[in-house]
Amino acid sequence: MPPLISVQEVSRVFHGGAKFVNALDRVSFEISDGSFVSLVGPSGCGKSTLLKIIAGLLPASSGSVSVSAKPVDGPLENVGMVFQSPVLLGNILLPVEFAKLGVGDHMERAWSLLQLVGLKGFEEMYPHQLSGGMQQRVSLCRALVTDPQLLLMDEPFGALDAMTRDELDLELLKLWQEKKKTVLFVTHSIQEAVFLSDRVFVMSPRPGRLLENLAIDLPRPRTMEMMSSAQFGEHTLKIRALLASAASKSATSARSTM
Ligand code: ADP
Ligand code: MG
Repeated sequence: MPPLISVQEVSRVFHGGAKFVNALDRVSFEISDGSFVSLVGPSGCGKSTLLKIIAGLLPASSGSVSVSAKPVDGPLENVGMVFQSPVLLGNILLPVEFAKLGVGDHMERAWSLLQLVGLKGFEEMYPHQLSGGMQQRVSLCRALVTDPQLLLMDEPFGALDAMTRDELDLELLKLWQEKKKTVLFVTHSIQEAVFLSDRVFVMSPRPGRLLENLAIDLPRPRTMEMMSSAQFGEHTLKIRALLASAASKSATSARSTM
């Protein structure tokens, strides 16, 4: 089967007056349909930029992206996005209105999604009455309401406390398994990346390059107990070492060009 996402030699430069920033440098990878992939890397290495390029919200400076074997040359329609900042409960049906799909057809899906993430009974509440965790559950529902095959998630649970994050990670896996989506998940938590993923893509400091494409062979369904297994520890250690080594190399090259 062809991959759902194919990223080939993607680079991105940002120009700001006389200055320019090399955000991404020749990044290539493929993601197969139905898999869960996480992207980890230091702050500023181009993770969000890469997600936006895949979603068709931002053009690459060079290289190409295709989704479902079609080149991405504008905003993708069949994609759900979840960001760090929460959205409002009343906004679950917003993507439906955008896509002019008819709210009626999607009401049922919205309700069943709310139930699935444990928000049944909270439908009438105002956003400020919901905790951060609940607000992100709503964001997840919103991303799924048009039933997209692909979910792009940019540090969705990064602002939550550790326990709430664990809970949402488990719920996300449940949804993923039930709905058979493809997920590309950006996080700066190595543990979270290993816990969730089939594969972890490790990126270098800016300009972001792909350092490693690591298969996570932990069994499914994942459980919290797995986090204390030797296998889990080996994966996190390997990623931590890769990131540390890349960070020290980049610091050395920054000094040598001063
Ligand atoms: P990450 O998500 O990994 O933290 P980003 O993709 O947000 O990194 O940013 C990568 C680099 O590109 C950063 O140096 C950032 O300042 C720069 N950058 C991102 N978006 C823009 C933009 N619209 N204009 C100029 N520079 C940008
Ligand atoms: Mg980012």
